[in-house]
Amino acid sequence: MRGRLWLPAVIALGANLGDREATLRAAVAEIAAIDGVRLEGASGIVESHAVKLDGVDEQAPNYLNAVVTVSCGLQPEHLLDELNRIEAEHGRVRAERWGDRTLDLDIVTFASFAQHDDRLTLPHPRAWERPFVIVPWLQLQPDAILPGHGRIAELVAAHSDEVWAYATSPLVTA
Ligand code: ATP
Ligand code: CA
Ligand code: CA
Repeated sequence: MRGRLWLPAVIALGANLGDREATLRAAVAEIAAIDGVRLEGASGIVESHAVKLDGVDEQAPNYLNAVVTVSCGLQPEHLLDELNRIEAEHGRVRAERWGDRTLDLDIVTFASFAQHDDRLTLPHPRAWERPFVIVPWLQLQPDAILPGHGRIAELVAAHSDEVWAYATSPLVTA
């Protein structure tokens, strides 16, 4: 694909319904298969309690989360279209805000883009306060900076006990 501008992006994956681990594994492969996306790295899987609008919900199924890094030759909106397609193929239903879901795919950062419109906010506006995003991201990019919030290594310190490692084989084997 000559002529395309390839830019780095960070994508967060989450699931708390169904076979969560199988869904995350499938989603990583499906992201890698998007025309215009190259998979660069995949974190381990972390587990955490669900967070609902009124706080932590230990009655809801726990989440599994992971982060992948990619090089992307698509516009960010086009990447989001592809991620929404993959969510839909895994039966994602949007009923209530922050409701339980089979698969959630968020764009955490797209190069150093800063934008805010109806469809897409970059960087993702809540990534900075979410250990289930920052902890796996830190595994992949220990020196990463989240524009507007500084080094992710420092963001993680206060909340790293809110997620725990989910023991399994790597999401991607070299
Ligand atoms: P949160 O945004 O707090 O993580 P959520 O992932 O549960 O919540 P969704 O229902 O999946 O929310 O998405 C709501 C809307 O967020 C989508 O329709 C999408 O257009 C928009 N959106 C804005 N910025 C982003 C981003 N960086 N990545 C993914 N979706 C985004
Ligand atoms: Ca989300
Ligand atoms: Ca989302």
